[in-house]
Amino acid sequence: MRKLTLTAALCASTMLTAQALAENDHRIVDEPLVLTIHMHWPRAQGYDENYPVERVAREMTGIHLKDATAGRNSTDSNEAMNLLLAKGDMPDIVGGHLIQQPVNQYGPEGAFLPLNDLVEEHAPHIQAFWDSHPGLQEAISSYDGNYYYIPYLPDGEFGRAWYIRQDWLDKLGLEQPTNVDEYYEVLKAFRDQDPNGNGLKDEIPYFARQWEEVNRLLNLWDARSSGSDTYHDFYVNDEGKVVHPYALEAYRDGIAHIAQWYEEGLIDPEIFTRGSSSRDYLLSENLGGSTHDWFASTSGYNQALADKIEGFNFIPFLPPESAGGVRMEEHRRIPIKPDGWAISYTNEHPVETIKYFDFWFTEEGRLLANFGVEGETWDMIDGEPVFKPEVLNSDSPVNSQMYLVGAQIYRGYWQDYRYEWQWTSEPARKGIELYKANDLLIDQFLGVSLNQEEQAVYDKYWPSLRTYMLERQQAWILGTGDVEADWDEYMAQLERMGLSEVLEVMNSAYSRQYAG
Ligand code: CA
Repeated sequence: MRKLTLTAALCASTMLTAQALAENDHRIVDEPLVLTIHMHWPRAQGYDENYPVERVAREMTGIHLKDATAGRNSTDSNEAMNLLLAKGDMPDIVGGHLIQQPVNQYGPEGAFLPLNDLVEEHAPHIQAFWDSHPGLQEAISSYDGNYYYIPYLPDGEFGRAWYIRQDWLDKLGLEQPTNVDEYYEVLKAFRDQDPNGNGLKDEIPYFARQWEEVNRLLNLWDARSSGSDTYHDFYVNDEGKVVHPYALEAYRDGIAHIAQWYEEGLIDPEIFTRGSSSRDYLLSENLGGSTHDWFASTSGYNQALADKIEGFNFIPFLPPESAGGVRMEEHRRIPIKPDGWAISYTNEHPVETIKYFDFWFTEEGRLLANFGVEGETWDMIDGEPVFKPEVLNSDSPVNSQMYLVGAQIYRGYWQDYRYEWQWTSEPARKGIELYKANDLLIDQFLGVSLNQEEQAVYDKYWPSLRTYMLERQQAWILGTGDVEADWDEYMAQLERMGLSEVLEVMNSAYSRQYAG
């Protein structure tokens, strides 16, 4: 009674407070409403109705999600989706990993509801997200111009960076390389001047745990290795055309340089075969000099190897300026994932469902989706959500702890980078600040939705084209064949294998999708 009176008094006292209270009322339905959900993703095959996050969302909105996940005994989300579609009786909500392709394929055929109008009319917070992030709604749209799912939207910008053994530079009296020529000289010095001090010429100047990162060196000669965070992807050129980086003359010249560096022993001779443990091995054996890899995990080696290698200091440095004078970081976090959730055609409460989806884009819903339940895993301190010490200091990674309470799971939500920043190490933070200060990011190719005819052309030609490109690439880098001598024949072969047809369907889909 007393509380009610107090609230009423507060409401009456200022408009602002009344508005704030109204905004905090997330109730969608008067009577509790149960909606069934398919939620299949890498960390869990199913939706746990006892997630603390679900419990709170249920109290706030009145909507209760009930698990109806297909393919629970498989970890393959594609397989689970196929099973769900074959089964016929669809749950109200279809969510999880890799749903973009199936919803864009089956949405126009009637299996999922188009969300454009529903969102415009009933989901102001989602609409505000689209309005403030131009291009993303188009990027997830199907070939009929509608969109059929609310994605998991990652936050944060930088992913990978260029790393170098600063202690080796210091030992050899060298400065950090600022351009491709200086980088070349530094790698030669690492090769020749025994920076690890064991009397052997055993240093590996450039290495990478994903062999594809050898292609990142293409950037140093103004060629591209990919247009997105997927390796070997198409990109959109300055004229607004979709092109493939491996069919352009800049690529020919870049590969010629990489082959030369490889021959000179500046690149790991086992770059194609050493595999994912190469970073671990080459750093802990005091052999690796420079790489291109993720900020957070690569910065962890300074602490991990501090006792083992005296003075070990592997730090991010700015991307070397290219031969053409361009300094850029090709890799970045993708702004939209193919994961999230959609509304199936059997759902009898589409308005309530889209309002529920919208809840996760409100301030409170977003905090809940990112950090878990306030007071349980985090507290609001000076206006910032801060994880509790027991969460940050646990042996279990913060993301794993979040998955268990129902936060950071693949519902349609907007990630909050503050979630990750809190457990990013100091050296990685410094590196990210350095990259931020230098405006290095470039636009990403966010993919296209092919219609059925275009998809058929793509499927007919692209897989073998890609295989051929990668075979030739590897051969040239390893010194089998000469890219400059082979180039005309290579381009003619790409043409015979259907490159123009593939580029044509990519461009027709691209102009349809992004024209507006
Ligand atoms: Ca040595």
